[in-house]
Amino acid sequence: MRTFVEMCLPLQLLISLTLSLIYCHADHDISARAAFLRISAPRLPRNTPRHSSPSRLQPSASISSIRSIRRNGIALPAAADGTAASARTSGSDAESSANRICIVGGGFGGLLTALGLSKLPWKVQPEITLIDTKDQFVFLPLLYELAVGTAEQSEVAPLFRELLYGTGIRFVKGRVDSIDVDGKKLSVSGAGGERRELGYGRLVLAMGGEPSAGGIPGVERALRFTALNDAIQLKKEIQRIKRIRDRPARVVLVGGGYIGVELATNLAAALSSQSPPPQISLLHRGPQLMPLSAEHNRKQAIRALREARVDVSLETSVASIRPASDTSGSEVVVQKKGSEDSSVLPADLVIMTAGVRASGLADMVNGRVERGRGGRLAVERTLAVKGLGDVYAIGDVADLGGVEGEGTAQAAFQQADYLVWNIWASYNDKKPLAYRYTKLGEMLTFGPLDGSVAALGDRVTLGGPLASIARRSAYIIRQPTPRQRLRAALSYLGLSSQKGLLRTLVDRFPGRSRATEIPIEGGSSRESDDELSASPPVVKADREEQASGQPWTSLEPLSGPVFVAGATGRTGRRVVRSLLEQGWRVVAGVRPGGITRAEAIYANSSFIGQEEDIKGRLEFREWDGMNEDSISRAIQGCPFVVCALGANSLSLAAPSTVDGKITQNLIRISAATAPYSTETNQLLRHFVLVTSLGTGSFGLPASSLNLFGGILLIKRQSERLLEKSGLQYTIVRPGGLERAGDDYEREHPLVVYGADEKYGGIVSRQQVADLCAQALCRPEVSKNKIFEAVTATGSEAAQLISERQRQGDSATLDTRYRDLMAAVSQ
Ligand SMILES: Cc1cc2nc3c(=O)[nH]c(=O)nc-3n(C[C@H](O)[C@H](O)[C@H](O)COP(=O)(O)OP(=O)(O)OC[C@H]3O[C@@H](n4cnc5c(N)ncnc54)[C@H](O)[C@@H]3O)c2cc1C
Repeated sequence: MRTFVEMCLPLQLLISLTLSLIYCHADHDISARAAFLRISAPRLPRNTPRHSSPSRLQPSASISSIRSIRRNGIALPAAADGTAASARTSGSDAESSANRICIVGGGFGGLLTALGLSKLPWKVQPEITLIDTKDQFVFLPLLYELAVGTAEQSEVAPLFRELLYGTGIRFVKGRVDSIDVDGKKLSVSGAGGERRELGYGRLVLAMGGEPSAGGIPGVERALRFTALNDAIQLKKEIQRIKRIRDRPARVVLVGGGYIGVELATNLAAALSSQSPPPQISLLHRGPQLMPLSAEHNRKQAIRALREARVDVSLETSVASIRPASDTSGSEVVVQKKGSEDSSVLPADLVIMTAGVRASGLADMVNGRVERGRGGRLAVERTLAVKGLGDVYAIGDVADLGGVEGEGTAQAAFQQADYLVWNIWASYNDKKPLAYRYTKLGEMLTFGPLDGSVAALGDRVTLGGPLASIARRSAYIIRQPTPRQRLRAALSYLGLSSQKGLLRTLVDRFPGRSRATEIPIEGGSSRESDDELSASPPVVKADREEQASGQPWTSLEPLSGPVFVAGATGRTGRRVVRSLLEQGWRVVAGVRPGGITRAEAIYANSSFIGQEEDIKGRLEFREWDGMNEDSISRAIQGCPFVVCALGANSLSLAAPSTVDGKITQNLIRISAATAPYSTETNQLLRHFVLVTSLGTGSFGLPASSLNLFGGILLIKRQSERLLEKSGLQYTIVRPGGLERAGDDYEREHPLVVYGADEKYGGIVSRQQVADLCAQALCRPEVSKNKIFEAVTATGSEAAQLISERQRQGDSATLDTRYRDLMAAVSQ
């Protein structure tokens, strides 16, 4: 089994690494995916017939056509500058319109189609004209970050002028407000009301969607969240909400699709420092949140909503939104499914994320055109609008009759690739390709340091901060041009470090789940790690109650039992053995229902032996690390705790549960239930935490472990929580544990280092266990220290062994380990 796990680990690391690559290119750039898969296909959809590659048919078409165009003086590529283009569009342009490809809408579908077309070689270079009402392309999946201030506008909404610079694409700023498909022309109106006609040879409709009123009376009181201006407006609203201090601010979000969930959790994160805490409600009409999402993402979403304390109401519809009688806010009238009665939710801010329909412009395409769901244009698999051969539609405005992925940027990206080919093919008498959607997965944000990723049909999953990093990294590379990718990367890094996010990522992993937000079943504690770190530590009201049953008033070694978390694990059981051998009483923590298994492990005579004295000092207690009461009961009466928990499952999410939540729950409850000594001004409990080399700062090879679910970053957050908890603590960071047997010490003596000194080395689990036991025996040298543990090799090992032999009996485990720890402590 161990070999199997070891064999799988590199595979898992590889999957982690490739995940962002898959997202970065493959889903929106089929040729890039082909390159990634080592299939040589020049920027064409995967099922493009290889004999019809344009580059093979016209090897030098690009250069010759540009020369020919220049000679003939037609369709000269214009600067991507709205002003210049507008000037040229005035008057009649009928003579050049057959060779003009007009693209209405510069969102994901339209912009990528324009960029793709501009890179193809043409016999006669067409004029590619992109028309949009705005000056900027908007990377909609990053709209949350823009609203809550964790992304800059330059990353989320770059100017078309900059994106199109040097591409030859003409940009026209204006609103297309009518389309004459018989006359093959568009009417474009400018901001000042001026109107122009623009002829086309091929037309691409990529106007996306727009919010639908949904027939809810008073819906205009709600903020929508579908466009750049909505995010800017929300940013202002957040500031307004933050000024409400005399009572909890109330935010109601309508719609439990992924946008509603992502927005609710991001808002909660943005308002997390608000006092009193805001009341955020999420209303959803259906029985299940995010019905179209992967199971993993849905579970993560529910987890994130619970941590963010968002109040979710399912099967709840909004009947109307009306002004509040006593405040400047609103009242949302809601109705539960199956109930005649309605109730009223007061709100300082209402946000509608539900109800999107195709852009109203779709209505302008004349009546011959079939309409699909939500007013979308019914299109063939070639992406041509049904009944109109030279008009194409992609993205949110197109209805492909239920093909998966509709209404997502991912689909728009993929459609753009097909469309580029099909338009090129239409000019070159080639067969168009039928669009096929490749589902690559889904990435969600739940705040600046939390997210969820499900890819390859839920086989590759990430949660928490690693998912958040993977998502932002993928979105950097998904940006439409190389220059914009660089800008987005710099903006992310700059803003992250400015806001302390990078530091926080390392220090407070996993993410937003501060101590305040750790979900503990049955518990409602909201104290933060800052509160825990307050000096003197805040003693909870129920502490006296807890403490009354506890017999200890000091931390004298051997004065009370040691609770060992992870006592049936490979390190934990050796910790138990080491403690028992040194005379401690031990409470071995085992998972619910695990006592029989634990007894079987410990009954093995070669493990702790049969001596009644030793066996009589061992007690098993079941505990559930996600349940506050269960943890309290398990550690009751134990002044000492050793946490030897560690994720050993292949799931990438395991570290965030085991090394993150459960470990942090144990730390928090240990602090919350420890007696407080007014004499020494400290909590009376010594907590030993086993983590790993490379936890404190970056260094190879140790840090590469982070590819395994971000495990070191998660462990670091647990370390930080312990450092701030007010508990007396010792952190033991071992090197690689897999290769050394229990007798490793004989040939490879242990060497102990201070924090962030070592990033590689081997140590045995038994050596780690001995070090943990010694830390409790020698609080004078171990208190509030970090020890990094690796073994000596080569000549250093030989020297230490001969030194030990010289010392003979005086080199006992006790003295040796104490000296090792003392050396670090000096
Ligand atoms: C908040 C939010 C988060 C999202 N997150 C994700 C996600 O994580 N993953 C995912 O896959 N999808 C996501 N989506 C959905 C995704 O962004 C859309 O499916 C995608 O943008 C559709 O692309 P499009 O090209 O069809 O339209 P859009 O990107 O909406 O672009 C349409 C463009 O057309 C322009 N336009 C509209 N009407 C006219 C007109 N009459 N004349 C000229 N120009 C016009 C608009 O100004 C706009 O620039 C999200 C959407 C939102 C709102």
